[in-house]
Amino acid sequence: MSSKRKLPERILMGPGPSGVHPRVLQAMAMPLTGHLDPVFLEIMDEVKGLLQMVFGTENELTAPMSGTGSAGMETVFVNLVEPGDKVIVCVKGLFGQRMVDMGRRCGAEVVQVDGAWGDVIYPEQVEAALRQHPDAKLVSIVQAETSTGVLQPLGEISGLVHDAGALLVVDAVTSLGGTHVDVDKNGIDACFSGTQKCLSVPPGLAPVTMNSRAEEVLLNRKSPVQSWYLDLSMIRNYWGQERFYHHTAPISMIFALREALEMLAEEGLENAIKRHQELGAVLQAGLEEMGLELVVAPQHRLPQLTVVRIPEGVSDAQVRGRLLNEYGIEIGGGLGEFKGKVWRIGLMGSSCKLRNVTLVLSALREILDSI
Ligand SMILES: *Cc1c(COP(=O)(O)O)cnc(C)c1O
Repeated sequence: MSSKRKLPERILMGPGPSGVHPRVLQAMAMPLTGHLDPVFLEIMDEVKGLLQMVFGTENELTAPMSGTGSAGMETVFVNLVEPGDKVIVCVKGLFGQRMVDMGRRCGAEVVQVDGAWGDVIYPEQVEAALRQHPDAKLVSIVQAETSTGVLQPLGEISGLVHDAGALLVVDAVTSLGGTHVDVDKNGIDACFSGTQKCLSVPPGLAPVTMNSRAEEVLLNRKSPVQSWYLDLSMIRNYWGQERFYHHTAPISMIFALREALEMLAEEGLENAIKRHQELGAVLQAGLEEMGLELVVAPQHRLPQLTVVRIPEGVSDAQVRGRLLNEYGIEIGGGLGEFKGKVWRIGLMGSSCKLRNVTLVLSALREILDSI
């Protein structure tokens, strides 16, 4: 491919990546520093402070891992889970399923709590699993299940997990920056995210945070962390004051993350969350006005990702193809159980603006009216 090849302009309204603001793209083009340059070390401290702000935590161990959201998920699992451990994983969509896979690869005995796709996990289900498996080390759950569009309430489940003496692990890949994660307030012991959803940075970093309870589990491991690259006991010595070299930080990505987090701080986290809530509601009302059916019950809908049933007799590929080719809009198709049955429309980070809501609604209306 020639470097002169012109890429079409896309409006990214799928389940991620989301659109990236020019300020963030410019930050990626800044001259490189070394990864141990004092100037870069200051930037790392700024990133850490800003991540603590969006996560809603004072956790000392807060850092962006090199890799996408799945690397964040894997970081939490490989660091906290040892062979023979018992872990409870809540599954109500594709990303819960992915945590089951990771838990098993760590050699854990995985107990699955299953919910229907499109619904939440109910506290009674977690309570029953904990009663049956009081020796469970942790309970993991996805806050914003991007495969189904469900927002999972955490408060009650958090209480149950802690009463049982287990750790609460939360996947906040799609929630961070678009929904309250409130790590400290919600009693989340370990949490991970990704940059390409509501933070609106290209894919490539996975913010992770762990409190002292989780750190203690990490420090008291019997076996070394199975992944050298994702071993937080070493990474924390680079992101902490020691500044020990572990692997070369993806410097330009960290410039980008700092810029995006600074923009979020300028807007105010509360305002950004409100923007997602308000525009998500406008999109959802507009889709229902067109006679389309939303999969998730109103009280459990995510604002930043809306899942809509494909009407009978309408071709998934044809509609998504026309949105992309005629309007430059990318939306997502269904995954797993929902493959071919739903569309997933994202309003994440800088893609979450009224102009995009109006555009996708009218484009969809025009296409559906013409077939
Ligand atoms: C996108 C996503 C992931 C995985 O992130 P990648 O960046 O694709 O590796 C994990 N969990 C949830 C809920 C997601 O939406």
